[in-house]
Amino acid sequence: MINDALVTRLLEGIGESPTPYHAAGNMAKLFRLAGFVELDEQHRWQLLPGGRYFTLRSGSSIVAFTVGKSDIAQNGIRLVGAHTDSPCLKVKPKPEIGRLGYAQLGIEVYGGALLNPWFDRDLSLAGRVSYVDNQKQLKHVLIDFERAIAVIPSLAIHLDREANKSRSVNAQTDMNPVLWQFSDGDPKLPFDFRQTLAAQLLAQGYDSVAEVLDFNLSFYDTQAPARIGMDSSFITSARLDNLLSCFVGAFAMAGHNFDHTTALICHDHEEVGSRSDIGAQGTMMQDLLERLVPDSQSRQLAVRRSLMLSVDNAHGIHPNYPNRHDSQHGPRLNQGPVLKYDANQSYATSSDSAAFLKHMLSSQNIDLPLQSYVTRADTRCGSTIGPITASNLGIRAIDIGVPTFGMHSIRETAGAQDVGYLYKLIQAFYQCTNVAL
Ligand SMILES: [Zn+2]
Repeated sequence: MINDALVTRLLEGIGESPTPYHAAGNMAKLFRLAGFVELDEQHRWQLLPGGRYFTLRSGSSIVAFTVGKSDIAQNGIRLVGAHTDSPCLKVKPKPEIGRLGYAQLGIEVYGGALLNPWFDRDLSLAGRVSYVDNQKQLKHVLIDFERAIAVIPSLAIHLDREANKSRSVNAQTDMNPVLWQFSDGDPKLPFDFRQTLAAQLLAQGYDSVAEVLDFNLSFYDTQAPARIGMDSSFITSARLDNLLSCFVGAFAMAGHNFDHTTALICHDHEEVGSRSDIGAQGTMMQDLLERLVPDSQSRQLAVRRSLMLSVDNAHGIHPNYPNRHDSQHGPRLNQGPVLKYDANQSYATSSDSAAFLKHMLSSQNIDLPLQSYVTRADTRCGSTIGPITASNLGIRAIDIGVPTFGMHSIRETAGAQDVGYLYKLIQAFYQCTNVAL
């Protein structure tokens, strides 16, 4: 029952978060409601022992933290990391395409998206728009069309008899969504997408839009996240990678008080390499550490006594493609979080950090299954923010995540039971009295 409520909250959170801006904004809302104080990186901070805080960077990365009553230099930080972004289709800066009387938008592919599942979906559009208002003030606001406004129709099999054998997808020519059809004397001609955005902003209650200057918009599937399967044991949704980890981390942190210093950092731009001011290769975590522990020697002690759980989904072994996994390391859905290993350091898990986690669970008498994943020796694995944070900051890290099917598809599948397992694991980690080696 407790797990059911958690899964429901998670699916609501993901459904309301079509873009990293919405995800970070909804997490901020959750922290505000839990009594966390919002801080601005452009101001000086007064951090107090026992205080609970969060700050957003550029609206799409967020770090929440609680300052422990114990000395951080002595006890380190229990850090959980995840990412707010997911592969998707973004609208190009000059997107208008008018062809055969259809209004389409030019897109670019963000991250390693699996493109085939994007065809024939009821798509909407959301993100952030920057505009000048009637008082000549520059504004940046979130936008969400909410309803299905576009589709990328697939080509009928009659026009491509080899489609089931050999159809490939060209993102430049095959993926431009269709938004509407022009008629003679259409007031929407000439097609100017900024006008469409201005109209939507007005519909959302921003009543003085003088000129739309720029935007960062992604298409998304309007099909709501769902609990599925004969026994409702699976969850399906877009963006399970990695909003599942973001929200479960936020639930674990917001609902409790911890004795030691804890943090949850959720970065944008993981899917494109993390190299930005808001990505894991940026300074966000380093800046937080410097504010938390201004003395450099004490900060070094704190760093070496800290531990990071880098939480990002893992590949569950697929019953139709079992040979894509090493048979000894094929995580199953609903059988617990996965420790992700890679000898070549695409994952930060080490033998000592993994052993720590197992020992932490047994010493707190927590009965929670853990699985392990390492890729086949003849393939390369993905990576995530764990190794980046470990190498940039010097914090030991463990890469874990719940097993999923269809990673980077427009609709991914995970196990409902694993949501509760992950929550329990993160909570136990935040509560742990000693994370130093
Ligand atoms: Zn991910």
